[in-house]
Amino acid sequence: MTDIGGRIDEVRAQIAAACADAGRDPAEVRLLAVTKTRPAQTVRDAYANGCRWFGENRLQELREKSAELSDLDDVSWSVIGHVQRNKAGAVVDLAAELQSLDSLELAADLDRRLRAADKTLEVLVQVNTSRETTKSGLAPDDVDAFTRALRDHSRLVPTGLMTIAVPSPDDAEVAACFDELVAVRDRLRDRDGGGWDDLSMGMSGDFRLAIAHGSTCVRIGSALFGPRD
Ligand SMILES: *Cc1c(COP(=O)(O)O)cnc(C)c1O
Repeated sequence: MTDIGGRIDEVRAQIAAACADAGRDPAEVRLLAVTKTRPAQTVRDAYANGCRWFGENRLQELREKSAELSDLDDVSWSVIGHVQRNKAGAVVDLAAELQSLDSLELAADLDRRLRAADKTLEVLVQVNTSRETTKSGLAPDDVDAFTRALRDHSRLVPTGLMTIAVPSPDDAEVAACFDELVAVRDRLRDRDGGGWDDLSMGMSGDFRLAIAHGSTCVRIGSALFGPRD
């Protein structure tokens, strides 16, 4: 039995320290507890320690976990992994937010299902700022056209951008990914006259650096729950 409460306190203190160093208000940074591969009891333990946002990357796993946890009525699930088009319905049923949107076909499927269910869904557009190392996410140069096309899908509410930085021991390389996401966001803001506030960047290994570069949502798994199998 790990001391999840102690780890959550520790991560919160690190978030607060990174915010203080950057002259930022810790209330600007959402802690998304990444519970993929963890049992429902882990979500319960984190919930008991104040977590309300949970990240999952498999819809089947999310469906099972949210059913087991249906008594926790103020939990919000965020989907952070690649979604196949045939899983659009599960996203609409289960998720409060999709952070990994990078396909217009999926956007169209989601919009149609959201309309049928009379719902909306907050989405973040995933941007590939590390280019060579990951396959998911849009190239930075494609974000302008993609987000214009998203306007046709009015049930999707774009709130910001998400990225996974290059896994590198060199902070300068990691920071370059975060700065690139900020630059993409600033272009969208100039174009649209505002919006795109949410910048989901930073994981267990790089969340302090991400906060220094403007992150508003850190997605943290192993620093809270230990290594995944
Ligand atoms: C698994 C995952 C995380 C959490 O990673 P840790 O290094 O365990 O904090 C964050 N974001 C995404 C998109 C993930 O898939």
